[in-house]
Amino acid sequence: MIAAPSGAGKSSLVNSLLQSEPSVKLSISCTTRAPRPGEQHGHEYFFLSESDFLKRQQEGEFLESASVHGNYYGTSRKVIAEHTDAGHDVVLEIDWQGAQQIKKHYPESVGIFILPPSLATLEERLRKRAQDSDDVIARRVQASSGEIQHAPEFEYVIINTEFEVALNQLIAIVQASRCRFSQQAERNRSLFANFGIHVKQN
Ligand code: 5GP
Repeated sequence: MIAAPSGAGKSSLVNSLLQSEPSVKLSISCTTRAPRPGEQHGHEYFFLSESDFLKRQQEGEFLESASVHGNYYGTSRKVIAEHTDAGHDVVLEIDWQGAQQIKKHYPESVGIFILPPSLATLEERLRKRAQDSDDVIARRVQASSGEIQHAPEFEYVIINTEFEVALNQLIAIVQASRCRFSQQAERNRSLFANFGIHVKQN
């Protein structure tokens, strides 16, 4: 799970992570937010009407869901299952509310919080993006400090001062997470059995 305030550079980091680690797949979320210029249904998000989202939520389609900046967002159980069934690691770009829900169901999940180097940098990045109107930017800057208060709930923090450094740290966390005993045991059952390593089942 990767969380960050808007403008911390999360999406660029995640996109580069996906390129350098092809076995890591992104969970494409559902949202009621309107697409930004260039965004496509099924690419950045599945863009749904509010009534469609609420219906799916009612039917239990989402592993987690939350209202963020006045729109609904949710992670589809089906999307996650498709990736995990194929043996892939899955990255969830979610807010702190979603991360709390996922952690409850999947304590083995890994939480990474991305911080910008300063509040001024954050504002500047949001303005440069210029894809949102002024009042949306102002609302997001305010919401950012709320999101940042939840950083201590995550296992890792990356301070995105220099992109390449931050990316290397993100890749390192993904690789280290894969080497956790529980993950290795899951992936290498027969090897562990050959060595007579006893693995406790959850
Ligand atoms: P944006 O609209 O800028 O793409 O995302 C706004 C916020 O919603 C970000 O903090 C992002 O991480 C969060 N978000 C995106 N997808 C999901 C999701 O599926 N669940 C939750 N809980 N938050 C999400």
